[in-house]
Amino acid sequence: MKNKKVNRRDFFRLSATAGAGALLIPNVSAASQLPVSNSKAKDEYPVRTLGRTGITVPVISMGVMRADNPNVVRAAYNAGITHFDTAHGYQNGRNEEMLGNFFKDKSRDSFTIATKGKFDYPLSDNFEKEYTELLDTSLKRLQMDYVDIFYAHDLKSPEMVKDKRVIDILKKFRSDGKIRHIGFSMHNHNPAQIDAAIEAGIYDVILLSYNFKLDNIKETDEAIARGARAGIGFVAMKTMTGGTEDADGKKQINGQACLRWVWKNENIATAIPGFTNFELLDDCLAAAKNPSLTSGDRQYLASLCDKEMLYCQQCGKCLQQCAQHLPVPDLMRAYMYAYGYKNASLSKETLAEVNLTDEACLNCGKCQVECTLGFDVSKKIAAIKPVIHVPDVFLT
Ligand code: SF4
Ligand code: SF4
Repeated sequence: MKNKKVNRRDFFRLSATAGAGALLIPNVSAASQLPVSNSKAKDEYPVRTLGRTGITVPVISMGVMRADNPNVVRAAYNAGITHFDTAHGYQNGRNEEMLGNFFKDKSRDSFTIATKGKFDYPLSDNFEKEYTELLDTSLKRLQMDYVDIFYAHDLKSPEMVKDKRVIDILKKFRSDGKIRHIGFSMHNHNPAQIDAAIEAGIYDVILLSYNFKLDNIKETDEAIARGARAGIGFVAMKTMTGGTEDADGKKQINGQACLRWVWKNENIATAIPGFTNFELLDDCLAAAKNPSLTSGDRQYLASLCDKEMLYCQQCGKCLQQCAQHLPVPDLMRAYMYAYGYKNASLSKETLAEVNLTDEACLNCGKCQVECTLGFDVSKKIAAIKPVIHVPDVFLT
């Protein structure tokens, strides 16, 4: 997948010829093409093609998850960002509503939107009905007839990726015209899930955690390459490993270096950093204008590789160790949301999904978990418990 700079003249030229380029990618239909950018697209950002979807997208997109200021969305859109990523659960639905209000008067082919829907596993008898209602609610909030990408949110195993009931409902959403492309998101960068997606054959896009801290980067990159050859497009999240370069969430990480590290893998079509203000947006745009990893970036990132930070690898090695069978990786993610992202709302939401209670870890004695990153897991769980009790009225 090649980077390609787009200037205003090229914008029109590429839009007109996108169908021809798509023939190089397995299973791309010309009908699935979208304009490479909106009419105010800047000329500085490389664009890449998102697998068999044929969607061309700047390497920088917006993870809207934490943003609650529509003016930041407007600034991103005006700067030439075309892809916006949200989820049914973000900010209890207000994130989708904000996007719906912003995009309602914009040309539908000037942007692409992805949302996600989570389900409890194992699936209930009512799964199909509940999941359809979830998507319909998202579309209503977004004020749209369809989303460009719908992700089954946070699939945790190859079995979930290949589950026939999940596949069937996603296909139905597509045949009903409610979604254009099928995807799933995964926090655990498990190569086996990418291979499961190749086998399943229906997934157009995978949204995965991808950053310089991954402990299995070689295996992950190889699986991504296999997926790309099969026509799957890849979108990167958690690119900044929680946003800070220390374990306490105090010192902001060099986000530009993190993004450039991600973009050196040309099979990653775009990244969705979750900028929430104009300063962070500008920082991301500056990175996209100079997307090549520098020797300074390499040195900086190398200096962080062995350092304890906020980012949990989601490797799952702690799951069998915990005496109370707590979902430790999810709890560590909730910790990162609270202390790195400063997003108590998302943290509380994550804790509610896994039913963390005040009783967790009590009467356990010495913690049995030996985290591969050296996290003091029980200490972090103790630090995250107060979030359960933050009244919703104080949350954004
Ligand atoms: S807490 Fe440690 S062992 Fe558990 S998933 Fe995270 S990195 Fe792996
Ligand atoms: S103290 Fe450690 S082993 Fe015990 S419940 Fe907490 S995380 Fe699990």
